[in-house]
Amino acid sequence: MSLRFYNTLTQKVEDFTPADGNTVRMYTCGPTVYDNAHIGNFRTFTFVDILRRWLRASGYELAHVMNITDVDDKIIRNAVARHQSLEDYTAIYTQAFLEDCRKLRLEQAETLVKATSHIDDMVSAIQRLEACDHTYRSDGSVYFRIASFPQYGKLSHMDFSGNIAGARVDVDEYEKADARDFALWKAPKEGEPAWETPIGPGRPGWHIECSVMALRYLGETLDIHAGGVDLIFPHHENEIAQSESLTGRPFSRFWLHAEFLMVEGQKMSKSLGNFYTLRDLTEKGHAPEAIRYTLASVPYRKSLNFTQDGLKSAATAIDRLRNFKLRLETGKFAEGRNDQLSERVDTARRGFRESLDDDLNTAEALAAVFEYVRDANSAMDSGEFRSENAANALTFLGEFDEIFKVLEPSSMDGDIPDSEVDELVAERTAAKKKRDFARADQIRQELLARGIILEDTKDGVRWKRKSS
Ligand SMILES: [Zn+2]
Repeated sequence: MSLRFYNTLTQKVEDFTPADGNTVRMYTCGPTVYDNAHIGNFRTFTFVDILRRWLRASGYELAHVMNITDVDDKIIRNAVARHQSLEDYTAIYTQAFLEDCRKLRLEQAETLVKATSHIDDMVSAIQRLEACDHTYRSDGSVYFRIASFPQYGKLSHMDFSGNIAGARVDVDEYEKADARDFALWKAPKEGEPAWETPIGPGRPGWHIECSVMALRYLGETLDIHAGGVDLIFPHHENEIAQSESLTGRPFSRFWLHAEFLMVEGQKMSKSLGNFYTLRDLTEKGHAPEAIRYTLASVPYRKSLNFTQDGLKSAATAIDRLRNFKLRLETGKFAEGRNDQLSERVDTARRGFRESLDDDLNTAEALAAVFEYVRDANSAMDSGEFRSENAANALTFLGEFDEIFKVLEPSSMDGDIPDSEVDELVAERTAAKKKRDFARADQIRQELLARGIILEDTKDGVRWKRKSS
């Protein structure tokens, strides 16, 4: 079976190949940098990361553009309140976002672009829309007239034909009931930053940013446009209206949307006290890879219930995989190959690949890995494993980790460095030789307190870091 995705536009699962050659042209809506991104945002970004990695593992190259929205209603409100320039204010949260991405092992898009670097492009796009009668002006702002785009609603599958002509909305985010002509360009309000442009002073609306940057870097028709389900309406619907009015061509062939994240079964909100940023969670001692695993483990089209128990099981699952890897790397296996076990790893690999091909079914892919780990562990227990089987198993584990990226432990703040662990382990071995068991035990306890677990095996001492 080939790679296929559920397309929000057609409401069908469709086979995916890029339109043009081997390169996937993809746009994803990036963060609005007015605050630290929360774990719900990172659910979507983790989905995009898995998507990127799986497209590449499928043999494609990536031309992926992501925007940083560094001007919008919330940013202006906060920056003005803090007496900071937009640039200074957004630089803080852009840095924080990139740092969080690095911790979660999220690959950077090939092209990362800031909205404020593209004001001229936005102005010229608005002028072209004005020239073909898709807009009108009111009080210094420019609005997109949705009645001028009869297909409006085709992504969210809503009928907006009964909308009152000329009714307008000025905010960037609104509900379906408020589907109105939306602002492409907003006239400045007292005390707000503004750009002086040929269409007058003001600033762009949020929706035009993405259309302009996608068209500029990726051409008229994208292969994939992705984001969270909350962006389907109005943001992506408006992107389609603007882009297709500009080009007369379909804006994106595939639209992929990640479902919401709940926390302990409830909608995440500051007022409920269940609102988490990545920092909140790492400060509680959760390893970023356990968070990544939790976010990646539920297929992106299912809503994800983020719980403390889930984080604990993720840490346990990662431990299991690391133990398995350590066992493969350090175990002594007889030369040769057990054919049955070679077939077993092939079956696991097939299960893994087929699951991800099936609209990124990460849960099934993980199941294929863990069933294999269970079988391989018992084959090692009973001495059936041979050196080639161990090598094959490590290759498969490597393929798994190219996508899930959880095997390498993150160094947490205050972690003891490897070299220091090695020194203490050597000192302990020396102490044991001198029959100074008190000192040997003291070192073990000290390392344990610092998150290092020692295992005495017949092949010597192994150590690993405790995952959180
Ligand atoms: Zn966007």
